Amino acid sequence: CGIVGVVGAADAPAILVEGLRRLEYRGYDSAGIAVLDEAGGIGRRRAEGRIARLDALLSEQPMTGHIGIGHTRWATHGAPTEANAHPHATARVAAVHNGIIENYRELRAELQAAGRVFASQTDTEVIPQLITALIEQGLSPVDAVKAALVRFEGAFALGLVFAGEQDLLIGARRGSPLAVGHGDGCMYLGSDAMALVPFTREITYLDEGDMVVLTRAAMTIYDATGAEVVRPRRQTELSS
Ligand code: GLU
Repeated sequence: CGIVGVVGAADAPAILVEGLRRLEYRGYDSAGIAVLDEAGGIGRRRAEGRIARLDALLSEQPMTGHIGIGHTRWATHGAPTEANAHPHATARVAAVHNGIIENYRELRAELQAAGRVFASQTDTEVIPQLITALIEQGLSPVDAVKAALVRFEGAFALGLVFAGEQDLLIGARRGSPLAVGHGDGCMYLGSDAMALVPFTREITYLDEGDMVVLTRAAMTIYDATGAEVVRPRRQTELSS
């Protein structure tokens, strides 16, 4: 339902929770964040119900880090439980997803046959699992995402972070909106500019089929054909 991401932040968990609060108006049944710790490992906190519960969980089990992704979920596949809340992750990749991966049953069966073990009932979990399988075959994170996107059917927006990659946040959109926010020494990702206005007014909206590679200092966009493209940077009129 709602996506937020940041790379290069002083306090990524705080930004992710604030971004998610801005997306509450869209409705959701659970929420969560994934943040890379100092060693580059993927840490997650997820909770059923309101963002306030996620926030309470973070008070009990705090996280620190400079890069992460967050999500408010409106369940389509799998009950609204903590185990089905996003981000979904393997040891290598964490993903947040809006929309539906229509061919998830087929992908899940293929990945399970290859020995991958699933932890949720969602369509979403095939995303980190497939990207992980491709990385384990030797692809770089960027190439693994490109190769995985070709296999997904349906409408979606994605946000991805990778273990050990403190300066790499990837987004993709097909049939579901996604925008980049340009910060001062950091970059943001949001399914809705509303999630980004507390942090920046400089926004680039992705086009249908785009994939974006963000570092704290740069944005590179690839269109559906894989060609590098330039999308305009605008000042949003939305007020925080
Ligand atoms: N289909 C995914 C799920 O059920 C994402 C739903 C959403 O857009 O929040 O987990």
